[in-house]
Amino acid sequence: MRTRVIRTFLTIAFASLAAALLALDLYAAQASPSLWYPLLMITGTILLLAAMLAYLFVRSFSRQTAELRSYAERLLDPLASGEQLPAGNDDLGDLARSLQRMAPKIRELVETLKLENARREAILASMVEGVLAVDKDLRVTFCNNSFARAVGARIPVHAGLPLLDLVRDPGLLEVMNGVLATGERSEHRLTLPAAADHTFEVLAGPLAGPSTRGALAILHDVTELERLERVRKDFVANVSHELRTPLAAIRGYAETLLDGALQDEKHNRRFVEIIEAQATRLSNIASDLLTLSELESNGKARPTPPQPVSIRAVAESAMRTVESAARVRGVRLVCGHMDDVAVLGSELRLEQVLVNLLDNAVKFNRPNGEVRLEVRELDDGAVRIAIRDTGIGIPSEDLPRIFERFYRVDKARSREMGGTGLGLSIVRHVIEQMSGTIKVDSQLGVGSEFVITLPALD
Ligand code: ADP
Repeated sequence: MRTRVIRTFLTIAFASLAAALLALDLYAAQASPSLWYPLLMITGTILLLAAMLAYLFVRSFSRQTAELRSYAERLLDPLASGEQLPAGNDDLGDLARSLQRMAPKIRELVETLKLENARREAILASMVEGVLAVDKDLRVTFCNNSFARAVGARIPVHAGLPLLDLVRDPGLLEVMNGVLATGERSEHRLTLPAAADHTFEVLAGPLAGPSTRGALAILHDVTELERLERVRKDFVANVSHELRTPLAAIRGYAETLLDGALQDEKHNRRFVEIIEAQATRLSNIASDLLTLSELESNGKARPTPPQPVSIRAVAESAMRTVESAARVRGVRLVCGHMDDVAVLGSELRLEQVLVNLLDNAVKFNRPNGEVRLEVRELDDGAVRIAIRDTGIGIPSEDLPRIFERFYRVDKARSREMGGTGLGLSIVRHVIEQMSGTIKVDSQLGVGSEFVITLPALD
């Protein structure tokens, strides 16, 4: 096969030579017929020699091309470098030397490409973002594990799988189809039902290879970002709402006073008292918000190292703080069982927690009611702080939400009592920062019990 061209060429040359020699013989034999046989003998000998030379040439050429072919086929094999190659000064020798010179460079290039490919695959596999590549027929050419997980597919996903078999979501199919049709990049926000309704920012674009066409999509999970954005918006709306009421009251009463009520001896003092109460409320909201923001930043702004805190000392101090409010409301403060245990944390914050809980227990109590505080060291190295009241209780449907910012069961009653709706939110943050938990148990009309569990200090 390889030497077919040369063989054909040699056969034609041999036939032409034979024809030319025979023609010459015939011509000479016409002039002197006695020369016919000797001439025929000479022609035969020449043709025989030519045939032998051609055979030897074809054989040597075949051998050399076979060597070159085997070397070329095993070019990437390092063992092939020791192979015997045609070394003559002819064209085949030149070709062999060129191949030998190129071989290490090609091997190095292939190694670099392999390494690069392995690196790229490792990066794509460890990416949090989902990556999907499809060909022009919407068959998957590559997808990483994050993508497979996002669409609920079994890992590994084999190349060549129709995208429709992998993703049922019409939104994503539409995006990929759009890119293939227009060849242009596009950005979308999609919610994938297969990914437990997570929302993704999808960045899709064309993927043009030297001979192929396809599309590539990168999926970035923005569910948490969206949630945080929603929380932020709600928070801003809540804060504005909370500030609006006292500000409107202050403004209203100040205007009434300026419009002549200053001279109204019967009412002016009450109006100023209302202004003062509303200003106090604004200041409480501001300081609670500051505390919350400090807690939420995890004390990054001014990190204070945790200190050993004696619960008994903190509990007694908190009881003293709410004593007067309890007396005013006719609520009895009872100090129950009190183990002397220490925990690790901030004394100031823990006192704030107990004051908030005791204050609520007094505020949402009934006349002649009771608030009981107990501290017990548990066997498992934890300390249990319980604050129980005989107050109005909390409806069970509200229980899961009372630790949310600005959540109140009875907004009017809470505001009337000077509450900001941030107290329990602060309590939960502080306790969680101290690696503890807080639970609440309540019965409408009977009372509530808040139980804090903290790791005790040895
Ligand atoms: P507030 O400033 O309104 O007290 P909190 O965050 O401290 O805000 O409490 C949130 C809501 O939880 C209160 O408005 C109240 O409805 C309810 N709550 C908290 N503690 C008690 C309690 N001991 N008894 C009844 N309801 C309570």
